[in-house]
Amino acid sequence: MPSTSMQAIMKPAPAPGAELRQVPVPEIGPRDVLIRVRAASICGTDLHIYSWDRWAQRRLRPPLVFGHEFCGHVERIGDEVQGLKPGEFVSAEMHVSCGLCYQCRTGQSHICQYVRIIGIDADGCFAEFVKIPATNVWKIDPAIPVEYAAILDPLGNAVHTVLAGDIAGMSVAITGAGPIGLFSIAIAKACGGGPVFVTEPHPYRQKLAVKMGADHVIDPTSTDAVAEVLSHTSGTGVDVVLEMSGHPDALRQGFQMLRRGGRISLLGIPAKPLEIDLANDVIFKGAIVQGINGRRVFDTWYKMQALLKSGALKLDPLITDRMPLADFDRGIQMLLSGDASKILLYPNGSA
Ligand code: NAD
Ligand code: ZN
Repeated sequence: MPSTSMQAIMKPAPAPGAELRQVPVPEIGPRDVLIRVRAASICGTDLHIYSWDRWAQRRLRPPLVFGHEFCGHVERIGDEVQGLKPGEFVSAEMHVSCGLCYQCRTGQSHICQYVRIIGIDADGCFAEFVKIPATNVWKIDPAIPVEYAAILDPLGNAVHTVLAGDIAGMSVAITGAGPIGLFSIAIAKACGGGPVFVTEPHPYRQKLAVKMGADHVIDPTSTDAVAEVLSHTSGTGVDVVLEMSGHPDALRQGFQMLRRGGRISLLGIPAKPLEIDLANDVIFKGAIVQGINGRRVFDTWYKMQALLKSGALKLDPLITDRMPLADFDRGIQMLLSGDASKILLYPNGSA
């Protein structure tokens, strides 16, 4: 049985930074599950929360335990929970949908109107224990490596984006080689896509893109990325663009390197509204433009599991660092510098 208190990384008040605090272990309701966190991973969103930028100021209501990427073992289940038992190794879909809105009732709960995100709107997983509604818990197939189980949330973003249209036999450009862009290289390749072009300004991440199997890695700060992609595609452009930076320049370049009739799937989140040449880059091109939000629940999870079980996704180069929960600040600084990709935290002792 857990004690009544635990260590957690908290945003105690509406201000920059975070603190390691002793807080009560969450109490679970009849349909909840208490999970002992084995490994958690730091996401770009956590950097926004830590830095307390405009988005975080508007969205968060501290005090809050943050963190939303993790795996762990079931510690305790609520009285009405079926199909799960203590000790099972699990992760979770952290977007909790309402079940009542139009989207939830028509098979699109990933774009629920009233979604609440654990780690943003409710206490998250940078802690020894986390409380999850049983319907959001995902059992980990024993064939899946433990460290991969901690990063299913962002991997699922990548799987959702790459598989949002045809990919086999398609040329692909990925703008932005953060963790999700890097995952997408492996997924596109595993699904028969290629060649894969990647644009990324940061040298450390360019190297990771090469390790993940990108065919052409382009530094958009020193090379004309659009001209480079066009020159390798006989002037046609790529079949598929996966926008994974949220940067305005990358977005515009993404549209320009897309072939006529191609698909551009937008995952990266721009900080503010931006201008695009709709006439030339979308309308005359007959471009298929898709917004991508979260993971399809649970279709994306099943596809991700199948891809992982096939052994086709080698993600080890992307897990760049491992540290105890108490070293959280150091992890944040490494990510802010760009010299890291996925950092795993161990709230209950090392793996
Ligand atoms: P990240 O911030 O680590 O990665 C973004 C990458 O883009 C960085 O490596 C950065 O160097 C690179 N970049 C910056 N300017 C660029 C440019 N001009 N051209 C090409 N690359 C450029 O983020 P991540 O965790 O990999 O997530 C990717 C994006 O997806 C972020 O914008 C994130 O907010 C967003 N996101 C969206 C969803 C969703 O559901 N839509 C979910 C998770 C993350
Ligand atoms: Zn809903």
